[in-house]
Amino acid sequence: MNQMKLVILDRDGTVNEDRDDFVKSPEEWVPLPGALEAIARLNHAGWHTVLATNQSGLGRGLFDMASLNAMHARMNQMLAKQGGRIDAVFFCPHAPEDQCECRKPLPGLMLQIGERYGVDLKSVPMVGDSLRDIQAGAAAGCPTHLVRSGKCAPLDDGQVADIVRKVPGTQVHDDLGAFVDALIQHERQLRGLSGETDSGFGRFD
Ligand SMILES: [Mg+2]
Ligand SMILES: [Zn+2]
Repeated sequence: MNQMKLVILDRDGTVNEDRDDFVKSPEEWVPLPGALEAIARLNHAGWHTVLATNQSGLGRGLFDMASLNAMHARMNQMLAKQGGRIDAVFFCPHAPEDQCECRKPLPGLMLQIGERYGVDLKSVPMVGDSLRDIQAGAAAGCPTHLVRSGKCAPLDDGQVADIVRKVPGTQVHDDLGAFVDALIQHERQLRGLSGETDSGFGRFD
C-alpha cells in the first residue's frame, strides 16, 4: 500500500508557545523557536502536516471562530516564509463539560484525520507536549512522540518517564525540530530496506 506521508501535530506547546490564559488572538500566537522551520523541513521531505488541537477557549467563550481562523492565517503566513505549510487544522471546540468525543485524550480528532485522508493511522506519527496528546494518538493507533516543550518543558526526566510509562512505545524528543531530525534520519535508514519496522515511527511503504 502506498499512502500519503502524514504527521499529526498538537498545536499549543508543540508548534507555538502555550499560555495558561489560552492563545486567544493572532498576536498571542507565537511560534516556538525552530518549530516553523521544522515543519518546512518535514514538508520538503514529502510529509504533509496537520494539526489536532483542543480549543476549549471557543466553548468557554474566550474567543470566536474568526479569531481562531485569524491565528491560523497568521501561522500559515509565517510558515510560508519558511517554505512550509499546515494542510489542515482539526480542532475540538468543546468545553470539558460538553463530553464530546473529539477532545483529547479521546481519539476523535485523529479518527477524523484518518477518515479525511484515507490513511492507516498506524503509519501516522502523532506529536504532542502533554499526556493527553499521546493518549489520544495511541487510542487511535498512531505511533506517539512526546516533545519536551510546552507542558513538558518544566518537567524533569523522572516526570517525563512517568508520562511515557502511561503510553508505552512513546518516543521522547527535545522539541519539534528534534522529532523531525529523528523522523528524517529514520526514513533515510529505511531507504533501501524493506519490510516491517516497529521503531515507533510506523511503517513506511
Ligand atoms: Mg499542547
Ligand atoms: Zn470536542
